[in-house]
Amino acid sequence: MEFKILNGVKTYAPTSKQELIEYAFNKKNMLIAVNAEKILHSSKEIKNLINENIGYPDGYGAVLILRKKGNKNAIKVPGCELWLQIIESYYKTKSFYLIGAEQHVVDSTVKKLKEDFKGVNICNYRNGYIKTEQEKQDLIKDIKEHKPDVVFIAMGSPRQEQFMKSLQKEYKTVYQGLGGSFDVYTG
Ligand code: UDP
Repeated sequence: MEFKILNGVKTYAPTSKQELIEYAFNKKNMLIAVNAEKILHSSKEIKNLINENIGYPDGYGAVLILRKKGNKNAIKVPGCELWLQIIESYYKTKSFYLIGAEQHVVDSTVKKLKEDFKGVNICNYRNGYIKTEQEKQDLIKDIKEHKPDVVFIAMGSPRQEQFMKSLQKEYKTVYQGLGGSFDVYTG
């Protein structure tokens, strides 16, 4: 998949959601939303994180810049649609681990996913309020035991990106940060 470096931010130019998803499964890396704000104002730390992973154009501004720079068929991929597309495309063959939001929200998210995608393999889930090092270590152990194909983390930025980075060191797979998407999905 092609990419451009936009103000120091490596931004991929997918021509379909499927192309982006397959690329992520091949690389077993983090999917990180890039928008004009991130291209213009990201800290060095966030730029480095995006550049080591898969930054995709989640905003129209980012797509316009990519198109202007020659990727005429680049499409916008909203993060809130991408995670559901990943589940829709792979719920029969891959497993998912959910982390984030308040307990009742993540409970409802899992319930709704099971209704919307019959037989979906959600290997485990927990809320996004991880307060102690022990809780974090327990979570890492649990993820390693369950070996999910994808870990979705809805804790808001930049908390979720920092958290994904530390999990990725312990267990390499596809990660996607989702912001408030569990809240949106459950309405
Ligand atoms: N959240 C969390 N852990 C925290 C703080 C917030 O899981 O320590 C959750 C919160 O419940 C909400 C989401 O993270 O579901 C934050 O969404 P927000 O819309 O603020 O994130 P953004 O989309 O702006 O990055």
